Amino acid sequence: MNKKGRVFSGIRPTGRAHLGNFLGAFKNYITLQDEYECIYCIVDLHALTTIEDTVNLKQNTNDLALDLLAVGIRPEETILFIQSHVPQVTELHTILSMVTPLGKLTDLPTFKEKVRQNPNNINYGLVGYPVLMTADIALYKSDLVPVGIDQAPHIEFARETVRSFNYRYNTNVLIEPQMKSADIPKVLGIDGKEKMGKSLNNHIELAATPEETRQRVMQMVTDPQRIKRTDRGNPDICNVFTMHKVFTPKEDVEMINVECRRAGIGCVDCKKRFAENLNKALEPFRTKRAEIAAQPDLVPAVLEESAKRARNIAEKTMQEVREAIQLP
Ligand code: SF4
Repeated sequence: MNKKGRVFSGIRPTGRAHLGNFLGAFKNYITLQDEYECIYCIVDLHALTTIEDTVNLKQNTNDLALDLLAVGIRPEETILFIQSHVPQVTELHTILSMVTPLGKLTDLPTFKEKVRQNPNNINYGLVGYPVLMTADIALYKSDLVPVGIDQAPHIEFARETVRSFNYRYNTNVLIEPQMKSADIPKVLGIDGKEKMGKSLNNHIELAATPEETRQRVMQMVTDPQRIKRTDRGNPDICNVFTMHKVFTPKEDVEMINVECRRAGIGCVDCKKRFAENLNKALEPFRTKRAEIAAQPDLVPAVLEESAKRARNIAEKTMQEVREAIQLP
């Protein structure tokens, strides 16, 4: 089947994936494979901008790749590789940094946010992060980048940077990527306040056991106004209900929607149902994950094979880039 274009997406090597990763990115990754040529990159170099202790980096990268394969990334067609295995990206990053005004980088809202989060580690790499991201996208001549609306300024930045490069060297070697807006839900953690994330320990790991999953679900914060079992609840502001909408059969979601509002169902029962449905939905993933994990050479082999394919594309682009610049 002829694919509609090339999609690129990078994901940080944060180790075993959680429900937030699945709903916010992986689900979309799987679907995109049907229509597009997909390149998914585990961005270990990007991770260095904020982590200093790299002792778990290899393991985290491997765990994430394992989870991606287990959820349904198909390496026979999709390229799934590690960013640093394609050194051409750092060359393009350097070249693109020469057409990037510094003020543009420090004006990006995400830079200001990073400074707030890492006040003691504002390094050069952190400022140049969007340039490296542009290099990732442009190196593979990607047409589309699936992102949520909060990432829109980065894609606009990438487009402008590519334009600046092409203009300066009077070429059209690099392609301006388009944003493929995805309806990416904001998945809250079990605390019901912040986005689900490992650093906040408010996550539910995809690879957790059914019992661990059940325990995490039972800790989930529900409608904060519903204190007693007899209080009426409001599913519209309940994180458990948001998740039910993804993992629970439609008729049951409707029943919960009605019964919660008239205190016909309690939060404990409601969460038990959710845990059950979530465990059922994750069963095929867990089986596949165990099968892949039982072959320890499989993940490194997939990553290496993919890196070879990525390097081929990357080197071809870099030859054109070097020629356009007339590097001696
Ligand atoms: S019954 Fe369910 S939907 Fe209603 S507040 Fe409790 S957990 Fe949320």
